[in-house]
Amino acid sequence: MSTLIKNGRIITATDDYIADIFIEGETISAIGKNLNVTATTEIDAGGKLVFPGGIDPHVHLDMPFMGTYSSDNYETGTRAALYGGTTMVIDFILQTQGKSLHAALAEWKGRSDNNCVGDYSFHMAVTDFNEDTKKEIREFIEQEGITSFKTFMAYKGALMIDDRQMIGLMQEVKKHGGLINVHATNGDMIDYLIAKHRAEGKLAPRYHYLSQPEVTEAEASGRFADMANYTSCPGYIVHLTCEGAINAVRNATRRNQKVFVETCIQYLILDASLYEQNFEGAKWVMSPPLREKKDQETLWAGINQGLVNVVATDHCPFMWEQKLMGKDDFSKIPNGHPAIENRMELLYSEGVAKGKISLNKYVEVACTNAAKIFGMFPKKGTIAVGSDADIVIFDPNEIHTISASTHHMNVDYSGYEGWEVSGKVKTVLLSGEVAIDNNECKVQKGFGKFIKRNKVGGTI
Ligand SMILES: [Zn+2]
Repeated sequence: MSTLIKNGRIITATDDYIADIFIEGETISAIGKNLNVTATTEIDAGGKLVFPGGIDPHVHLDMPFMGTYSSDNYETGTRAALYGGTTMVIDFILQTQGKSLHAALAEWKGRSDNNCVGDYSFHMAVTDFNEDTKKEIREFIEQEGITSFKTFMAYKGALMIDDRQMIGLMQEVKKHGGLINVHATNGDMIDYLIAKHRAEGKLAPRYHYLSQPEVTEAEASGRFADMANYTSCPGYIVHLTCEGAINAVRNATRRNQKVFVETCIQYLILDASLYEQNFEGAKWVMSPPLREKKDQETLWAGINQGLVNVVATDHCPFMWEQKLMGKDDFSKIPNGHPAIENRMELLYSEGVAKGKISLNKYVEVACTNAAKIFGMFPKKGTIAVGSDADIVIFDPNEIHTISASTHHMNVDYSGYEGWEVSGKVKTVLLSGEVAIDNNECKVQKGFGKFIKRNKVGGTI
C-alpha cells in the first residue's frame, strides 16, 4: 500500500517548503517536488499545512481515582486525540505504594492493550522507591522500552516521594539512561493550606487555587533542578505554570544545566479568574491550578526563549457528575480537565495565528521536542525519509467553534465551550493509513501501537 500527499506546505521544527510526500507501508519513503511515482491513494494538500503527527506526552486515560476512573478510556481518548491531530500520547502508570512497578504495568496493560486507536507509550510513576523497585528500573528501560519515570513532590501518603527517595531514584535512572519527570510542587505547604482553608469553612473551588500559590511551585522546581544537577540526572518538569517556576529553571541554565520544561495548553490561554464563579469553576480544578495573566506572558516568552520545550495537556477528564463529588469541598473535586482533542488547534489559533510563536516553533513544541526528549526521534516527531508516516494535513483558514456537543472526548462539558478557533485538522495519517478524514475516524481500536522508547541522552 502506498500514498502520495501532493503539494502540501511541509512544516517541521526547522523547515518550511512545498513538496510531495510518498509513503510506502508505514514509512515515509520519499519527499520532493513533483515526485514521479504511482500510489494507491493520492491526497491533494495544495493550500494546506502539513505537520508531523502531534505528540501529547502528558495524558491520563482510564485512570483510577477515588473509586472512579477518568472518563476517557484508551479508545475514546486516543481517538479524540487523532481528531485533533495528535497521533501519539504518553500516559502514566501509577505504582501503588508497597507494590512493585511490574504489578502496576500489568494493571495498566490490562486496560490499554488492544484498546488504543492512536499510538501510545507510558511513563512509570514511582511512588515508593526502595531496594526492590530499584532493581526494576533497569528492566523497564532495557526490556519494556519505558525510559521515563514520573515523580510527585506532592500528594503525601499516596503518590509523593521524599527527597531521599528522589535522589536515590535519580542516581539509578541516570545510571541506566533514563529521565525523571516531576510534578514539582511543595506537597507539605499545599497540605497545610488545604487543611487551613477547610478548617475555616472555605470550601469553594477557588480555594483549590488559593491552596497552591505560585511559591509552592517555584520552590519545588528549584529544589528539583538542584537535585537533578547534583545527580546529573536528566530532568523534565511536567505542567509548569508560572513565572516563579520558570525563573528557577532559568537560574539552572546559568550553571549550564538543562532542565526540560513542559507546560500545558490551558496555562497558556486560561487564567485564574475562572475560579471566581461558583461551582462552575470546578471545570478547571486541576493541579497546579490556572495562574495569572502575567504567567501566560512568561510561558509564551519561555517557549520563544527555549526554556519551555513542550506543550502538552495533562488531559484527565471527568464527567460533570464526577466533578460534583467535590460540590461541598474543593479538596474532593477530581483534578483534571479535557484537552487532548483541542491542543493542536488551540495552540495554532492562539499561538501561530495571533503571532506569538512561529510555525516552526509550533511544530517543535507540539511534536518534535517530545519525540527527542522521550527517545523516539526521528521515528516520531518530524517529516523525513525513514520516519513513521504520522502526518497531519491542516487548513489554516478554516474557522470553527469548540463545543462539547461536537467534540469526540468522552466528557459532557468543554473547558473551551464557544471558543472560535482559526485552523482545523482535516486529514490525519497514522502509520501510513488515513486515520481521520472529513471529520470521520477510519481506524478502530487496536490500530494504535505501543511504542518502545530508546534511552534518552538529555539533549534536544
Ligand atoms: Zn498529570
